[in-house]
Amino acid sequence: MSKQIEIPDSLTVRELAQYLDASPISIIKVLMANGVMANINQQIDFETAEIVAAEMGFEVVRPQIQETVENFSSLPRWRQIIAKENPVLLKPRPPVVTILGHVDHGKTTLLDAIRHTNVADGEVGGITQHIGAYQIKHNNRLITFLDTPGHAAFTAMRARGAQGADIVVLVVAADDGVMPQTREAIDHARAAHVPIVVALNKIDKPNAKPELVKRQLADVGLVPDEWEGDTIVVPISAKQKQGLEDLMEAILLVADNIDIQANPEGEVIGTVIEAQRESGRGVVATLLIQNGTLRAGQTIIAGNTYGKLRAIFDYRGNAIQKAGPSTPILMMGLRDVPAAGELFEVVPNERKAHEILAQREQEAAETTQKRQAMSLEQLFNRLQSGETNELRLIIKVDVQGSIEPIVSSLKDLETDEVKINVLHAATGNIGENDVMLATASDAIVLGFNVQADNTAQKMAEAENISIRTYDIIYRMLEDIEKAIKGMLSPEFEEEVIGHAEVRAVFPVRGGQVGGCRVLDGVIRRNAKARLLRNQNVIYEGELSSLKHHQEDVREMRQGFECGINLKNHNDYQPGDVIECYIVKQKETL
Ligand code: GDP
Repeated sequence: MSKQIEIPDSLTVRELAQYLDASPISIIKVLMANGVMANINQQIDFETAEIVAAEMGFEVVRPQIQETVENFSSLPRWRQIIAKENPVLLKPRPPVVTILGHVDHGKTTLLDAIRHTNVADGEVGGITQHIGAYQIKHNNRLITFLDTPGHAAFTAMRARGAQGADIVVLVVAADDGVMPQTREAIDHARAAHVPIVVALNKIDKPNAKPELVKRQLADVGLVPDEWEGDTIVVPISAKQKQGLEDLMEAILLVADNIDIQANPEGEVIGTVIEAQRESGRGVVATLLIQNGTLRAGQTIIAGNTYGKLRAIFDYRGNAIQKAGPSTPILMMGLRDVPAAGELFEVVPNERKAHEILAQREQEAAETTQKRQAMSLEQLFNRLQSGETNELRLIIKVDVQGSIEPIVSSLKDLETDEVKINVLHAATGNIGENDVMLATASDAIVLGFNVQADNTAQKMAEAENISIRTYDIIYRMLEDIEKAIKGMLSPEFEEEVIGHAEVRAVFPVRGGQVGGCRVLDGVIRRNAKARLLRNQNVIYEGELSSLKHHQEDVREMRQGFECGINLKNHNDYQPGDVIECYIVKQKETL
């Protein structure tokens, strides 16, 4: 009897070889015998793969489509890529750890201590420079540490859709306990759904009070495991290098409980950890690979820039040829300096990189428009589209005593349909960190008897994050209630603004364009559209281009001829009708 295996709809020869546990050459031979000439990286479709597999004694089935991840499109891009990988190809990768905690509690000392005690020995290579991340080996397993402590860096990465870290080590000084930035760090880690290991530091100090601090931790929801909670609390002294082995053990234990995986053979994606221009060397960047294997000589796009990897080095400065998931590397060759936290990915060549960036620029303009939907008045838009059923809030107040009543009154407004999730509530003015957390988590910032710092205000404007300040609690509650109610009522309606008929179909690079005549009304470049064929809707989406005699135009009125391209659609036939519509807010009484 043949063995059953699941394969995706389309895969490369190399991937098929992995599924069938065969050499790629043997696959190529079977393909050739069936009249298909393919190289190792070529995509083949399911039917072809099925034939090859059958000849090799396998019966293939299509994977069951499992929507395991809610709101796939709202996931960060690197997660989308991993979610799309076939589970069979995912392999464990080293956990990526970042260290957070209150100032002076010992983050830097801990990072240095770990580096010096554990960094895998070996020659330090030609480039001795701090690269922003390092790896250590514990019990023969690697752990990657990000070297920029603090939740600002952590959340800044998330705000750009990148990976902060898989695990947070929260440093709490045993002589000082849970402090405001400890709480803030906890909230940032929670908002990112990243598990926390507590390093209870400075236990060497005579005034250390570990038991008291554990109680404080329990009060903020981090109940130590020795009290039947699920937070591992490891007593350490970063200064005296005590307890570090236990801390590594704890990190690996937590790592084993969450799926820290990637496909080393998959699409390459990762995050820029830091980057700067250096005289004589051009742009030097530290990258963390999150999926796939990056190779010297490849071309990457990183944020808004691109370049060919002239050379890559490991964190010790040794030149290497390739690097897999969770590996930090140093590279040279980018044209410009990307911001820390930007994603990078591999592209075939520099020309393609240029093209993709141009397209991104256009999309970025659209995203900014989308972000405007984060104002309170328009939040219900997102709820309507099913994108969210949660109102996420960051709350800053003047005095500690106001936090509890405000949070609980807001919680009271929660309904079955709309959850209220307070990501962070603290005293003090609204600062950059609050706005960053809001950006990373699609949240709104509410202030009670406080103001927003200038920098926070500027950042909020740039990111289109809504900051609302109040001096009367009742008004705050009223606004949120209105937003929730608004969220629930169907306030949008569709208005058809015009029709165009496809008269001819023209091939263009990479697809087709419909040569149309506007039958009635108006066709607008930024409107939504559907394609009707014999009165059946065969496409629903939006225009990606509208041209009149090769010129891009904003709109085309009745009687005019124009070229229409629909986003992600490539099938036009004469007689098709393109219906153009807008979605507008319903007039309310
Ligand atoms: P950060 O602001 O969290 O990065 O804290 P640092 O690593 O700069 O440490 C702040 C201070 O605490 C420094 O003077 C350290 O020497 C000291 N420190 C850090 N860890 C320990 C420890 O385990 N024991 C003692 N006694 N002092 C420590």
